[in-house]
Amino acid sequence: MKVEKKCINPACALSYSINNDIYRCSSCSYLLDIEYSEHPDKSLIETFFQRRNPNGNIFNESGVWRFRELINFVNIDTEDIDECSKYFVSLDGSEGRLSRPYKMSKVANYVNMPSDNLFLQPEGYNPSGSFKDNGMAAAVTHAKLLSIKKLICASTGNTSASAAMYASNEGLDCEVYIPKGEIAPGKLGQAFQFGAQVIQVEGNFDDALSKSLDIAAKEGGYTVNSLNPFRLEGQKTIVFRILEHLNWNPPDWIVYPGGALGNISSCGKALIDLYNWGWIKKIPRVLVVNAVGANTFYELVNGLFENTKLAWNNGKPDITLIEKYYKKQSQDKRFPKTPATAIQIGKPANIIKALRTIEFTNGIVEQVEDEDMMDGMSVVGINGFDCEMASGSVPSGIMKLRKKEIIQKDDIVVGVLTGRQKDPSMIIKYHSDKSNKFAIPPRDL
Ligand SMILES: *Cc1c(COP(=O)(O)O)cnc(C)c1O
Ligand SMILES: [Zn+2]
Repeated sequence: MKVEKKCINPACALSYSINNDIYRCSSCSYLLDIEYSEHPDKSLIETFFQRRNPNGNIFNESGVWRFRELINFVNIDTEDIDECSKYFVSLDGSEGRLSRPYKMSKVANYVNMPSDNLFLQPEGYNPSGSFKDNGMAAAVTHAKLLSIKKLICASTGNTSASAAMYASNEGLDCEVYIPKGEIAPGKLGQAFQFGAQVIQVEGNFDDALSKSLDIAAKEGGYTVNSLNPFRLEGQKTIVFRILEHLNWNPPDWIVYPGGALGNISSCGKALIDLYNWGWIKKIPRVLVVNAVGANTFYELVNGLFENTKLAWNNGKPDITLIEKYYKKQSQDKRFPKTPATAIQIGKPANIIKALRTIEFTNGIVEQVEDEDMMDGMSVVGINGFDCEMASGSVPSGIMKLRKKEIIQKDDIVVGVLTGRQKDPSMIIKYHSDKSNKFAIPPRDL
């Protein structure tokens, strides 16, 4: 099988070897996809199902590598455990192992849907506490293939936690660039605990990302941000687990928070692949939820800037519109601001790929207030599941589209709860104020 990186610009479509760490087309500067020459056979569905009894094989236990035939960019014999152990990076089979769709009746009630129609997938139950581990296992696999010694990333917290965890487990160095004072203490603590070199950048995530990319280009180091197409390959397994749980009958909606937009780009890529392989006939609509304080994608897609709706447009999106938006953003000193720091991003690095997802899935971009995200996070909590504020955008985004009757009562909806709580002070504060919708204030004896 041939595996290549391919420019996503249909008018360019240049291919590149995967034996390097470039992530942008050198000709047109669009991002790259991973392309496989062979289409996997649908009979694998049975293999994946059987692997849920892992039989002592950590690559069956892993919710990422259980689907290894669909992301076999290292091109090995996937039934040979010794080969798998040599190449696939796994934290002892734990990534993606517990995250699959669950029903949560109180969330269903909150969004006014029957409990049987709404599923939420707690990706916070990954070893480092967020969905990032799905992609990081794949990206670090590629880094090892290139015999890389140092990982590098910018992060709103969860990418650095995940990168640092895998780096330490694989004996690699790790350098993380974080916006000083803008990340949850639990996330920062993980980077230190896993032995990463933390580098604090004055400014926001967008500044930290551009610094880390500059330094990686100058001094070397393998970038594991979601610009890295192997990250997105690993994150496709989030969609595979959703579909498997529904017997490969696609839901009507899949819902994600939108930050750098890597996750929804990955979802789009997964659905495009499955559709092209003939594994699915129906394409779920993707709903992306921005925070009001960091709503670049919402404003651009919905035509709130210069009265022009930004769209994929058959691979010819209006790039100058994006540039003008960013210029205006810095002229107005309008920097992303929300306590949901995981999605506090003004310049989403995967915006073009995300537009492709929106077009392919007839998707929608919505925005929600900070208070709504807190309610969303809290109603997940009273179902016995844990998630962080950014993930709380998912229930509140669903509720908003239910109110507008865009999501119908009998639609099947799956929301991705991207990460678990790493700043307990937030939830304590929420419950201490009895005016909050789901608050249970503490009592003094
Ligand atoms: C990274 C992250 C996001 C944003 O995901 P993108 O792929 O950047 O859009 C959302 N929620 C949590 C908890 C995250 O860690
Ligand atoms: Zn190109």
